[in-house]
Formats: sequence, structure tokens, C-alpha cells
Amino acid sequence: MTTQYDEAKRLLPIIAAAARADQHLTYQIAAQRLGRPKNNARTIAQVCDLLDAAAAFADVPLLALTTVLTADLRVNPAAWADIEPEIRNAIINRSRNDRFTNPEIKAIDAALDRLKGYSNRTAWPYLATLMPSGERRLRLAGVGTADYSDAIDDLGTDSPGVTTFEGKRYARDPQVRAAVIRRAGGKCEYCGKLGFKCVNGSRYLECHHILALADDGADRMTNVIAICPGEHREVHFGKRRAAMEAEMIAKVKDAEALRSTKPAE
Ligand SMILES: [Zn+2]
Repeated sequence: MTTQYDEAKRLLPIIAAAARADQHLTYQIAAQRLGRPKNNARTIAQVCDLLDAAAAFADVPLLALTTVLTADLRVNPAAWADIEPEIRNAIINRSRNDRFTNPEIKAIDAALDRLKGYSNRTAWPYLATLMPSGERRLRLAGVGTADYSDAIDDLGTDSPGVTTFEGKRYARDPQVRAAVIRRAGGKCEYCGKLGFKCVNGSRYLECHHILALADDGADRMTNVIAICPGEHREVHFGKRRAAMEAEMIAKVKDAEALRSTKPAE
């Protein structure tokens, strides 16, 4: 079976050559260069997303994002669609303005090898375990993180992790998180065990977006569950993750039904 990784390895030199020559490809043309039918554009978009995960891993601007475009020569509108437009524009501009030197291409290639076995869908959550995705987005945008000291993000969140931008406050994520932690009352909403005790006396639980925001999951209490850290990793990387996801959807539904019968705090 041909994997995304295999195709990414073949596609990287093709995209790199185009970028160095200041040319663009479209998903259709990239498909043809790989000997695939033109209607494989969607598959190619996924391969490009994996290549960009490798670029992010290597701390290099995103090569595929601005080199492989839609049929009408636009940056894929689905890419980074869920983040502040200013940050999205900054990520795109940084990639457009990069010359993609040989060392950068080599770094992307090496990072890709470290992502062997991952798809674009699993690579980004994996990267988020190494660096909060909000911080990574700011790095990709070339923005210093000093102004974003209260950026909040953690494993599994596909939200921007930026709570302030140019004076505007996006408080949705911390509020949802706090409300879910209140709903859990210290107990894991998946297995029912108490979280361990923190120095401040609270119980430790992690909030997980059941459907990632990137997959149109809502940033709502109905889509967020407070769980043990081990289960949090398992639901991202474990063999049972699909089954766990289904169980979590059911458990949150029950928790929300129970909450709606209680008087508001
Ligand atoms: Zn648990």
C-alpha cells in the first residue's frame, strides 16, 4: 500500500524545485507529476499537509502551503481556516517570502522521516504533544511569543491557543475548558476515577476536543471532555481511539443532560 509518507517523499523534490524556480503547482498538476489521475487532488492536498507538518517540525516555513495551490491558484482555503486571519496571513506571507534553501529542504526531508507512519491527520496532534500548537502557529507566523504569555493550549486542542491578538480578546477556549472542568467535578468523565491532587488542591484532568476543531468539531461543552492524561494520549494515538471517541461522545451527552437538569451555578 502506498502511504502518505511514500507520496510525500516523492513529492518533496518536485515541490522544492518549483519553489526554487519561483513557480507554482496546482494539486492537479502535482497529482500528474506523481503519475496519479488529476482527480486525486484531494489526496495530494493531504500529502501536502503532511509535508507542511514536517516543515513545522523542522521549524521551517511551510513549503507546500504556498507552492501547491488550488486550480484557481489560491492557497487551499481549508488550510489554517480555523485561526485568526491575521495569523493565517502571517503564516502564508512568511512561506511566500522564504527562498527554501537546500538546508531547509533537507531539514524538511529529515523531519518527514521522523513522521513516517503518521498521516496528516495524526501528525499535527503528535506535534502538539511536543509544542503547544498555539505557540507553533506563532512561530510559523514569525511572531514573537512574548506578547502572548497567556496563550492557552494543550494536547489535543486544535484551537489557536491565542487569547489576545491586537487588543482583541478571544476568551472562548478557557471558558469552555473551565466549564467542562467544573462539570467533571474532579472525576474523569471517561473512566470515573478522581484526577490526582495538584499542589493547589484541585484535581488534575485534561480537556480533550472529541472532534478536533480542524474537523469541524465545535468549541462547545458538548464536544469537550475532561479525562485522565493517559487516556488523553490513548484517544489520540491508541489503537482503540475510534471506539474511545464513540464512548466519549455518549458520555458527554449524558453529562450534559445531567448538567441541564441541575440549577445553574
Ligand atoms: Zn480516566
